Amino acid sequence: MARAYIGFGGNIGDTRQLITDAIICLAQRCELQIMAKSCFYQSAPVDAVGGDYINSVIEIETQLTPYGLLHICQAVEQEFGRERPYANAPRTLDLDILSFEGVVQSETELMLPHPRITERSFVLLPLLEIAPDFFLPNFGELKAYLPKVAHQRIEKLPCRNCNCGEKDVYSQSAH
Ligand code: AMP
Repeated sequence: MARAYIGFGGNIGDTRQLITDAIICLAQRCELQIMAKSCFYQSAPVDAVGGDYINSVIEIETQLTPYGLLHICQAVEQEFGRERPYANAPRTLDLDILSFEGVVQSETELMLPHPRITERSFVLLPLLEIAPDFFLPNFGELKAYLPKVAHQRIEKLPCRNCNCGEKDVYSQSAH
Protein backbone atom coordinates (compact mmCIF):
# COMPACT_ATOMS: atom_id res chain seq x y z
CA MET A 1 0.00 0.00 0.00
CA ALA A 2 1.22 3.48 -0.84
CA ARG A 3 0.35 6.59 1.15
CA ALA A 4 -0.53 9.62 -0.94
CA TYR A 5 -1.85 13.13 -0.38
CA ILE A 6 -4.31 14.88 -2.68
CA GLY A 7 -4.99 18.62 -2.65
CA PHE A 8 -8.37 20.06 -3.70
CA GLY A 9 -9.13 23.61 -4.73
CA GLY A 10 -11.71 25.66 -6.58
CA ASN A 11 -13.20 29.12 -6.82
CA ILE A 12 -16.41 28.70 -8.81
CA GLY A 13 -19.72 27.69 -7.25
CA ASP A 14 -20.17 26.03 -3.85
CA THR A 15 -16.60 24.72 -3.69
CA ARG A 16 -16.97 23.34 -0.17
CA GLN A 17 -19.82 21.14 -1.33
CA LEU A 18 -17.98 20.21 -4.54
CA ILE A 19 -14.91 19.10 -2.61
CA THR A 20 -17.07 17.14 -0.16
CA ASP A 21 -18.84 15.42 -3.05
CA ALA A 22 -15.55 14.69 -4.83
CA ILE A 23 -14.14 13.11 -1.66
CA ILE A 24 -17.26 10.93 -1.40
CA CYS A 25 -16.71 9.99 -5.04
CA LEU A 26 -13.14 8.92 -4.26
CA ALA A 27 -14.26 7.07 -1.11
CA GLN A 28 -16.51 4.90 -3.25
CA ARG A 29 -13.52 3.60 -5.22
CA CYS A 30 -12.28 0.25 -3.96
CA GLU A 31 -8.71 1.03 -5.11
CA LEU A 32 -8.13 3.57 -2.34
CA GLN A 33 -9.00 4.29 1.27
CA ILE A 34 -9.30 7.78 2.72
CA MET A 35 -7.34 8.00 5.98
CA ALA A 36 -7.69 11.68 6.88
CA LYS A 37 -9.20 14.95 5.66
CA SER A 38 -8.17 18.46 6.61
CA CYS A 39 -10.56 21.28 7.40
CA PHE A 40 -11.48 23.72 4.64
CA TYR A 41 -9.34 26.80 4.08
CA GLN A 42 -10.19 30.00 2.21
CA SER A 43 -7.23 31.49 0.37
CA ALA A 44 -6.37 34.36 -1.94
CA PRO A 45 -5.59 33.28 -5.52
CA VAL A 46 -1.87 32.63 -6.10
CA ASP A 47 -0.76 32.94 -9.75
CA ALA A 48 -4.45 32.71 -10.70
CA VAL A 49 -7.43 34.96 -11.35
CA GLY A 50 -10.92 35.17 -9.87
CA GLY A 51 -12.23 35.14 -6.32
CA ASP A 52 -10.90 33.41 -3.22
CA TYR A 53 -10.28 29.68 -3.38
CA ILE A 54 -11.49 26.98 -1.02
CA ASN A 55 -8.92 24.27 -0.35
CA SER A 56 -8.58 20.99 1.49
CA VAL A 57 -6.17 18.04 1.56
CA ILE A 58 -6.78 14.33 2.10
CA GLU A 59 -4.49 11.45 2.97
CA ILE A 60 -5.15 8.15 1.23
CA GLU A 61 -3.76 4.66 1.10
CA THR A 62 -3.87 2.95 -2.27
CA GLN A 63 -2.74 0.01 -4.33
CA LEU A 64 -2.86 2.17 -7.45
CA THR A 65 0.24 3.28 -9.31
CA PRO A 66 0.92 7.05 -9.35
CA TYR A 67 -0.51 7.28 -12.90
CA GLY A 68 -3.50 5.14 -11.93
CA LEU A 69 -4.26 7.66 -9.18
CA LEU A 70 -3.74 10.62 -11.56
CA HIS A 71 -6.27 9.19 -14.01
CA ILE A 72 -8.84 8.78 -11.24
CA CYS A 73 -8.23 12.36 -10.09
CA GLN A 74 -8.64 13.63 -13.65
CA ALA A 75 -11.86 11.62 -14.07
CA VAL A 76 -13.24 13.24 -10.91
CA GLU A 77 -12.26 16.70 -12.19
CA GLN A 78 -14.12 16.00 -15.44
CA GLU A 79 -17.14 14.67 -13.58
CA PHE A 80 -17.31 17.90 -11.63
CA GLY A 81 -17.25 20.03 -14.74
CA ARG A 82 -13.66 21.25 -14.79
CA GLU A 83 -12.88 23.27 -17.90
CA ARG A 84 -9.47 24.63 -18.86
CA PRO A 85 -10.21 27.63 -21.14
CA TYR A 86 -6.72 29.09 -20.41
CA ALA A 87 -3.83 28.59 -18.01
CA ASN A 88 -4.68 29.34 -14.37
CA ALA A 89 -8.32 30.13 -15.21
CA PRO A 90 -10.91 30.07 -12.40
CA ARG A 91 -11.89 26.47 -11.75
CA THR A 92 -14.73 24.46 -10.35
CA LEU A 93 -12.51 21.74 -8.97
CA ASP A 94 -8.79 21.05 -9.21
CA LEU A 95 -7.19 17.88 -7.83
CA ASP A 96 -3.41 17.69 -7.42
CA ILE A 97 -1.40 14.72 -6.23
CA LEU A 98 0.85 16.39 -3.67
CA SER A 99 2.97 13.34 -2.89
CA PHE A 100 2.87 9.64 -3.53
CA GLU A 101 4.82 7.56 -1.01
CA GLY A 102 8.52 8.32 -1.62
CA VAL A 103 8.18 8.69 -5.38
CA VAL A 104 10.29 11.43 -6.95
CA GLN A 105 9.82 12.05 -10.67
CA SER A 106 9.80 15.06 -12.96
CA GLU A 107 7.65 13.86 -15.85
CA THR A 108 5.50 16.70 -17.19
CA GLU A 109 2.32 14.66 -16.94
CA LEU A 110 2.95 13.78 -13.31
CA MET A 111 5.52 15.56 -11.18
CA LEU A 112 6.09 14.09 -7.76
CA PRO A 113 6.16 15.48 -5.21
CA HIS A 114 4.04 18.32 -6.62
CA PRO A 115 6.60 21.03 -7.47
CA ARG A 116 4.84 23.89 -5.70
CA ILE A 117 3.96 22.31 -2.34
CA THR A 118 6.43 24.39 -0.38
CA GLU A 119 5.42 27.68 -2.03
CA ARG A 120 1.72 27.74 -1.22
CA SER A 121 0.04 28.28 2.11
CA PHE A 122 -3.17 26.68 0.78
CA VAL A 123 -1.27 23.40 0.42
CA LEU A 124 1.07 23.66 3.40
CA LEU A 125 -1.51 24.49 6.06
CA PRO A 126 -4.08 21.75 5.29
CA LEU A 127 -1.34 19.19 4.65
CA LEU A 128 0.43 19.97 7.94
CA GLU A 129 -2.91 19.87 9.75
CA ILE A 130 -3.28 16.15 8.93
CA ALA A 131 0.43 15.28 8.73
CA PRO A 132 2.28 17.61 11.13
CA ASP A 133 5.67 15.90 10.70
CA PHE A 134 5.47 15.59 6.93
CA PHE A 135 8.90 15.12 5.39
CA LEU A 136 9.34 15.78 1.69
CA PRO A 137 12.09 14.06 -0.31
CA ASN A 138 14.61 16.69 -1.49
CA PHE A 139 12.98 19.40 0.67
CA GLY A 140 13.02 18.09 4.25
CA GLU A 141 10.57 19.00 7.01
CA LEU A 142 7.56 20.70 5.46
CA LYS A 143 6.79 22.87 8.48
CA ALA A 144 10.10 24.67 7.95
CA TYR A 145 8.51 26.34 4.89
CA LEU A 146 5.63 27.98 6.79
CA PRO A 147 7.43 31.28 7.41
CA LYS A 148 8.04 31.66 3.66
CA VAL A 149 4.31 31.64 2.90
CA ALA A 150 3.23 33.68 5.93
CA HIS A 151 2.40 36.67 3.66
CA GLN A 152 -0.19 34.66 1.64
CA ARG A 153 -3.72 35.37 2.86
CA ILE A 154 -5.45 32.25 4.14
CA GLU A 155 -8.12 31.48 6.72
CA LYS A 156 -9.12 28.18 8.23
CA LEU A 157 -12.91 27.90 7.96
CA PRO A 158 -14.93 26.72 10.94
CA CYS A 159 -16.55 23.33 10.37
CA ARG A 160 -20.28 23.44 9.91
CA ASN A 161 -21.10 20.47 12.10
CA CYS A 162 -18.35 20.22 14.70
CA ASN A 163 -15.72 22.39 16.37
CA CYS A 164 -12.60 20.63 15.03
CA GLY A 165 -11.63 23.76 13.06
CA GLU A 166 -11.05 25.61 16.33
CA LYS A 167 -7.81 23.66 16.87
CA ASP A 168 -5.67 26.07 14.90
CA VAL A 169 -2.22 24.54 15.30
CA TYR A 170 -0.61 26.73 12.66
CA SER A 171 -2.36 29.97 13.51
CA GLN A 172 0.92 31.90 13.26
CA SER A 173 0.66 31.58 9.49
CA ALA A 174 -3.11 31.89 9.17
CA HIS A 175 -4.11 35.53 8.95
P1 AMP B 1 -3.72 21.99 -13.66
O1 AMP B 1 -4.36 22.62 -14.84
O2 AMP B 1 -2.97 22.94 -12.77
O3 AMP B 1 -4.67 21.11 -12.87
O4 AMP B 1 -2.62 20.99 -14.24
C1 AMP B 1 -3.03 19.80 -14.80
C2 AMP B 1 -1.86 19.16 -15.49
O5 AMP B 1 -0.77 18.99 -14.61
C3 AMP B 1 -2.22 17.80 -16.05
O6 AMP B 1 -1.83 17.75 -17.39
C4 AMP B 1 -1.40 16.83 -15.23
O7 AMP B 1 -0.98 15.74 -16.01
C5 AMP B 1 -0.24 17.69 -14.78
N1 AMP B 1 0.39 17.30 -13.51
C6 AMP B 1 1.74 17.23 -13.29
N2 AMP B 1 2.00 16.85 -12.05
C7 AMP B 1 0.81 16.68 -11.41
C8 AMP B 1 0.44 16.30 -10.09
N3 AMP B 1 1.37 16.02 -9.14
N4 AMP B 1 -0.89 16.22 -9.78
C9 AMP B 1 -1.82 16.52 -10.73
N5 AMP B 1 -1.54 16.90 -11.99
C10 AMP B 1 -0.23 16.98 -12.34
